[in-house]
Amino acid sequence: MPAADRPDTTAHTLAQRAHTLAQRARGLGAMLLPAACPLCEMPAPAGRALLCRWCVAALPGIDARRCPRCALALGASGTCRVCRDHPAPTDDAIALADYAAPLDGLVRALKYRDRTALAAPLAAALAARVAACQPAPCWPELVVPVPLSEARLRGRGYNQSLLIARGLARRLDLSLAADTLVRTGGDADMHLAGRPRAGRERALAGAFTASTRLRGRRVALVDDVMTTGATLRAAARAIRAAGAAAVSAWVVARTP
Ligand SMILES: [Zn+2]
Ligand SMILES: [Zn+2]
Repeated sequence: MPAADRPDTTAHTLAQRAHTLAQRARGLGAMLLPAACPLCEMPAPAGRALLCRWCVAALPGIDARRCPRCALALGASGTCRVCRDHPAPTDDAIALADYAAPLDGLVRALKYRDRTALAAPLAAALAARVAACQPAPCWPELVVPVPLSEARLRGRGYNQSLLIARGLARRLDLSLAADTLVRTGGDADMHLAGRPRAGRERALAGAFTASTRLRGRRVALVDDVMTTGATLRAAARAIRAAGAAAVSAWVVARTP
């Protein structure tokens, strides 16, 4: 190497090292900074970004009595207006809270703004809810996320339901069976919300195909939001058609 090049090279190497060190320091800083509750930003004692118990206790509809089949918050009558006429194909359903502020903001950030780190605190809060209220006979063996269509997955780059399902499986010590349910059609529940029930169900009929590996298994179907319920119903039907012994629906948020 010519002598004249040495100072430059050394300077370059030093600059590179300084940059690497700065990067490492930033990474270390982020690790040392206490993780915070994503809603109130209070430092999380466990050092992991989890919803604090005060924010969980204040979630919309957290204490609501819910339909055991579809998780809809029940009114004073105590009967589910949806399942009364169209019984859900799920054996049971659990929702953390209603799809309303501030939970809806977290779900939208996870889903539409690449805030994938929000999946862990949402999964943790839902796991605690599931562990507290799941009746033992229906306890599933497998966690299956509601899949996105291939086009939507390509556009978003990740399936938020898979991220939540992964967190649930880890926390509840269940197996994740992400590839056992495939979506071949039918786009988001949102687009179907304005259609009458029969139209929604028709649009989603055959949108999912489940693997025969689910035969005889107890399955928890996981989604971020249950809006009309049409998507989860179609997915649950496919899982039943594949011979599953039981299907539960676990969602972070339920549209009231
Ligand atoms: Zn909080
Ligand atoms: Zn119901």
